[in-house]
Amino acid sequence: KLYNQVQDLRGNIRVYCRVRPFLSGQASRLSTVDHIDEGNITVITPAKYCKDGRKSFTFNKVFGPFATQEEIFADTRPLIRSVLDGYNVCIFAYGQTGSGKTFTMTGPKELTEESQGVNYRALHDLFLLSEQRKDTFFYEISVQMLEIYNEQVRDLLVTDEIRNSSQNGINVPDANLVPVSTTSDVLCLMNLGQKNRAVGATAMNDRSSRSHSCVTVHVQGKDLTSGTILRGCMHLVDLAGSERVDKSEVTGDRLKEAQHINKSLSALGDVISSLAQKNSHVPYRNSKLTQLLQDSLGGQAKTLMFVHISPEIEAVGETLSTLKFAERVS
Ligand code: ADP
Ligand code: MG
Repeated sequence: KLYNQVQDLRGNIRVYCRVRPFLSGQASRLSTVDHIDEGNITVITPAKYCKDGRKSFTFNKVFGPFATQEEIFADTRPLIRSVLDGYNVCIFAYGQTGSGKTFTMTGPKELTEESQGVNYRALHDLFLLSEQRKDTFFYEISVQMLEIYNEQVRDLLVTDEIRNSSQNGINVPDANLVPVSTTSDVLCLMNLGQKNRAVGATAMNDRSSRSHSCVTVHVQGKDLTSGTILRGCMHLVDLAGSERVDKSEVTGDRLKEAQHINKSLSALGDVISSLAQKNSHVPYRNSKLTQLLQDSLGGQAKTLMFVHISPEIEAVGETLSTLKFAERVS
């Protein structure tokens, strides 16, 4: 109970850190993560970053490399329940490319039931809970899938013909909203979205790492006795890779992409940290991402940020900047 009160005071923002395991073939390498203890993580850093050679950070929870998808979701569950009670929820995956954002939100390429990420589990839970409440509430659940690339919003649940005739920027209510009632509906939609996302990407140019993808679940519940309508929504956001690009090494489109990502991730950081500090002015207008999510960030809304880090020594610079970002928003 006290925990909940503390959370309320901090604007309902929770930050969880997840450390990716070494990938196959890397098993015996040295990790930057020295140790993890509940909400604390200590990383070993070269002297140029920190002269002690190590640095500790504290979050609501830290998940080590052996945490399962199920364990990750167990701590996300209470948020899912609150969507059915009419709250708005944002769940973000932040981290450099390759740190495990998509793994957390969606799962690995070869998806099994066990490896399903937060997106699938959240929808599955919504179906289950709404079924349990069916004597008192009638729930309708629908899904949107958007991508933000270079500050342009694109509907991922449309066919080419529709897309070409509606290049209308941020007008989200116009984005396709598809009713879902089973897990297989959801799998089918996610596949369509993922296919659409790949459009325009080449092997050299993996667009998914340089755009934000957002699955929005709208829940409408009718109280069967009073007729009152409750509305809640949940945004599941797989953010663009947070890595800094060396400006002296990229030009043209890559530089433009990098600048857009940089701008929108810092705008997100500014919004969440000003909410965490209960500032009266919250700078939502600085990016498409924060404009899009405005109604679900702050107020009664609940936010969960998963920050991902890679264990490799080579990634230590990015790992430290990810942890600093996370510390600023928590
Ligand atoms: P990102 O979306 O941040 O770029 P990915 O989710 O694509 O990163 O992860 C990069 C690779 O690491 C993928 O092959 C993914 O399956 C694997 N991976 C990420 N997190 C884990 C994890 N917790 N356990 C096992 N494999 C993981
Ligand atoms: Mg990814």
